[in-house]
Amino acid sequence: MNKPELLAPAGSFEHLKMAAAYGADAVYAGIPRWSLRVRGNGFTREDFAKGIDHLHERGKKFFAVLNVIPHMRRTQSFIPALDEVAALKPDAFIMADPGLIMLARERHPDIPVHLSVQANTVNSGTVKFWQKIGITRCILARELTLQEIAMIRDDCPDMELEVFVHGALCIAVSGRCLISGLLARRDANVGACTNSCRWGYNVRSLYAEIEESSKRQGEWMPIEEDEHGSYLLNSKDLCALPLIKRLMDIGVDSLKIEGRSRSPFYSGAVSRAYRLAIDSIAAGGEIPNESFEIVNSIPSRGYTTGLLEVHRPDETQEYTTNSPTHGNWIIVGAIEEQKDERLYIKVKNRFAKDDKLILFTPKGQILLNGNTMLDKHGKPCDLAPGDGYYVSLALKDPVDISTAVLLRANH
Ligand code: SF4
Repeated sequence: MNKPELLAPAGSFEHLKMAAAYGADAVYAGIPRWSLRVRGNGFTREDFAKGIDHLHERGKKFFAVLNVIPHMRRTQSFIPALDEVAALKPDAFIMADPGLIMLARERHPDIPVHLSVQANTVNSGTVKFWQKIGITRCILARELTLQEIAMIRDDCPDMELEVFVHGALCIAVSGRCLISGLLARRDANVGACTNSCRWGYNVRSLYAEIEESSKRQGEWMPIEEDEHGSYLLNSKDLCALPLIKRLMDIGVDSLKIEGRSRSPFYSGAVSRAYRLAIDSIAAGGEIPNESFEIVNSIPSRGYTTGLLEVHRPDETQEYTTNSPTHGNWIIVGAIEEQKDERLYIKVKNRFAKDDKLILFTPKGQILLNGNTMLDKHGKPCDLAPGDGYYVSLALKDPVDISTAVLLRANH
């Protein structure tokens, strides 16, 4: 069985470090102006260089995202940006725009180009076309079923295939969408999406008639609204964890996690969930419970396997709220120091001594005893009230504090 690469998102050097520590084989990141995450992206040129070194020292890969689809006025400054990124020697560019891909192939033929999901590849003919252009990996559209992915694999044995397995989904065809551009003047195709599909919309009439097809005239779509609003287009998040074995049997080369705008903890935690699953399946085992525990405990909009499997629409959409409501882990502290068998904690969110406190580390979860809590003066205390406070908790075994995160598990 093929053991695929696990590819994780990084919106900053901190994300990258966490993803690598928690088991990702490769990380993708973009310079804000030229990748589809112009917001929530903390990467600078220096971080890029540092990130590439960090990954290469650990035998891991770095893919530079340059997947905007720019209009004329924005293409002029692309060449210097491309050359600047190329000089840092990433392991590949991730790109979507045919013109920019041609430029990259001409100017930097030694750097492979991976075709972005934004190019919406849905059949093997398209894969073969891009293979002729010199693309070495296609990131397949999220709109494909498992069967279609298997057909493309059979038809294109020499092309690397990458599939998204976790993270937010678009209601549009993988980001080729004008909702945000239209309503907020922020174009999703140059990385400025405002998630307009997830906004709450008020309706003036209780029913919207489906008019687009004469065959369906007179058919009515009920729209219900409660005190939270009505979220007509809000997709649940993708979680293909239960389908990992099937994707590995098909022979997919890379399993990708979405979420460069999420927290560094998210990059680390989801990397660990899928790392454990891939390793266990490759060794002939099952997906460990810890993988499911992690994805179900981090914040999400609820999960769907998306279009990889056939669903009824109400199983893939979240109509009642647009904010992450699923998951019961909250980050409550950053570990500043470990000495004299104690962890010194910068409090981020409130926690009390009776809470279930988990130290999340690349080697597994450690339950901490809240009864050992001391305040910054070394006096016993019952409560870490919130941001700005410092406390300590007992922990005998040494841990790598640079990647450990303190969580509170709500019940
Ligand atoms: S508005 Fe929604 S569907 Fe459109 S690009 Fe943004 S996230 Fe995707």
